[in-house]
Amino acid sequence: MRKYLNRYGDKFTFSLDENGDILWEGNFEYCTITMPNDYREAHRVYLLDNCFSDHCLSFEDFKNAIHEYDDVKKEYKMGLKYVKLVTSRTDKIDCVDPSGGPYIGVGANMQTFGFKDFIVEDFERIKTGYKIITKKCEYCGKAGETHKMSCPTQKIQINL
Ligand SMILES: [Zn+2]
Repeated sequence: MRKYLNRYGDKFTFSLDENGDILWEGNFEYCTITMPNDYREAHRVYLLDNCFSDHCLSFEDFKNAIHEYDDVKKEYKMGLKYVKLVTSRTDKIDCVDPSGGPYIGVGANMQTFGFKDFIVEDFERIKTGYKIITKKCEYCGKAGETHKMSCPTQKIQINL
């Protein structure tokens, strides 16, 4: 278990569970969480509007293009229509930010807290705080930079 004192002197602990996820416990009374934007409805409408066009933006490209703003015309390049359809997801947490820190977001490396190459993939609210769901190896399911002996990525490394 790793201990962490934030700038207000609040104590947080991080402990690894048997699945390779990290339990982040402490006082989350004053805590901001953000949820990612939900572009699904906006993209669906966009596809309907453009169904006869042969160069529709993919979901990933659409997410960026929708925010492009024309500073001269003072308007969204794709129009306000789609921007208005972007909502906030309520089923997914993007980052957790207790008052006084630490700020931890999806994609962060937990190395700072003593978990080398454990990458944050998701958060789950638990009674005592948050469970940080970490990115797992797609072959053996292990988190961080470790792999099972039987993992094909290990064999590739040995053969090199
Ligand atoms: Zn592996």
